[in-house]
Amino acid sequence: MSSEPGAASTFLPPLSDNYLSMVLLVDDQVLICEAVRRALLGESDIDFHYCTAPLEAVRTAEEIKPTVILQDLVMPGIDGLELVRQYRATQATHAVPVIVLSTKDEPSTKSDAFRAGANDYLVKLPDRVELIARIRYHSRAYLDHVQRDAAYTALRESQRQLLNANLELQRLTRIDGLTSLGNRRYFDEYMQAEWRRAQRTRATMSLLMIDVDNFKRYNDAYGHLAGDEVLKQVAGVIQTGAGRAGDLAARFGGEEFVVVLLDAPLEAAGAIAERLVQQVRDLAIPHGAGRVTISAGVASAVPSDATSPDDAINAADIALFRAKAAGRDRVELNVAIA
Ligand code: GH3
Ligand code: MG
Ligand code: MG
Repeated sequence: MSSEPGAASTFLPPLSDNYLSMVLLVDDQVLICEAVRRALLGESDIDFHYCTAPLEAVRTAEEIKPTVILQDLVMPGIDGLELVRQYRATQATHAVPVIVLSTKDEPSTKSDAFRAGANDYLVKLPDRVELIARIRYHSRAYLDHVQRDAAYTALRESQRQLLNANLELQRLTRIDGLTSLGNRRYFDEYMQAEWRRAQRTRATMSLLMIDVDNFKRYNDAYGHLAGDEVLKQVAGVIQTGAGRAGDLAARFGGEEFVVVLLDAPLEAAGAIAERLVQQVRDLAIPHGAGRVTISAGVASAVPSDATSPDDAINAADIALFRAKAAGRDRVELNVAIA
């Protein structure tokens, strides 16, 4: 490989109007290389390198990053068209335009060159003015391609970031800040959507309404921050206990939580509620002479056209009220609404 003295050693794709051609000539004949070098001398926008060792052509091209390759056809050791195929198969050169320079003028040879991936074909030695015009044309096309590629990649990247930001935003609007359970808004949306689905599929849905017992007194005795910690711990139990796909645990408001169970009949939902009540007992958080407990009301429904999620919420609420009235720290079931 040889290069023009003082040639730019690094090359960056220039801005739209400031094109710079980086030519790599691959030809085993030094005389040809010298002739082309002289032809391009004085063109300040064209930088010229040549390589007389065909087996080093691909590596040289990777190194100097040409905007156009002039490729001799007949060389010792390797066929010029094989090199064209290698440029196409190499990441750094796969889109670099290749002008085949050949002594042959037969249409079939030209056709073979284009089939191998060449972009142009000149019989050597070409006229100086034509050679320069073609070098500029192919370089410009290549640089435009590179810029579009970079712009496209940048666009895709910013689209991806925007999508992730939107997903994160969406996630945050659905989550209760204190407990990390679903929030009330998400519960309402989820309930509406699943109710409609169950109306179509005639599936059974169950709802658990859960309320921390005597929580006002807990706050009064231990303070609101300690109360918040209790809510987090209870939320953790509920989240873990409603872990099946399609289950939703949400904070209904204050110290009230709600769990939506899809395809769960009343008995199964009741058993899950019993387990949650037991697990909160097992937390053994001191509360006065006893410990923190919860009460749960359970309702099940096969949603019909005449019912709405509010009916299920009311039914679960009634059951919860019964659990409170019966002494708290327990589960009450409500007959299925239809
Ligand atoms: P019951 O067993 O009948 O449910 O009695 P309760 O005291 O739990 O019920 P009540 O509705 O009278 O009181 C609920 C309390 O929950 C009052 C309120 O200060 C407290 N609370 C609601 N939201 C929060 C919260 O985010 N953090 C804390 N620390 N307390 C809350
Ligand atoms: Mg309450
Ligand atoms: Mg309460």
